[in-house]
Amino acid sequence: MSGAKAWRNGETLASLQPPPPLNGLVCAQCGRVFAPEEIVRFGNAAVCAGCKPLFLQRLREGVVLAAPGALRYAGFWVRFGAIFVDGIIGWSVSIGISLACGQSFLEATGFDNNPEMTQLDWLLTAVSLSIGAAYEIIFVLKFGATPGKMAFRLKVVTAEGGPSPSARRWEDILPSP
Ligand SMILES: [Zn+2]
Repeated sequence: MSGAKAWRNGETLASLQPPPPLNGLVCAQCGRVFAPEEIVRFGNAAVCAGCKPLFLQRLREGVVLAAPGALRYAGFWVRFGAIFVDGIIGWSVSIGISLACGQSFLEATGFDNNPEMTQLDWLLTAVSLSIGAAYEIIFVLKFGATPGKMAFRLKVVTAEGGPSPSARRWEDILPSP
């Protein structure tokens, strides 16, 4: 089949398609009109089922979308900043607890040059790990982001732009027994 003939066949097929529904939505990717049930929403952007894989790939590659309010994957430095802020908060809390338990500042920060772990050291390590886990779980669950992520306007969401799986179900983040 020659190229020109294939192209004409394509044109014929396109013209045979039913007219777009009146209350249709425009796909942000291909610009064609679809019925609302054929459209997947990403933030404010609407994409048809056919364009979804390509759209998700572009999201992952960090291609900025033309549609206002559309989701963008957070870049490395923004994520790094968020982790840094969360780290400072977690560090401050665990040092605060260690000081409250009677440790010196050097002991609390681990700079006391004493490699021996006392019973209190083990206890404080367990407490700070638990607080760290609870911090991540509770903030993502309740607000969709930790304070560090909020500071950089990041939010944990699903591919469809909905609340994160962890914000909907505990089973998604807790290991099954
Ligand atoms: Zn499309």
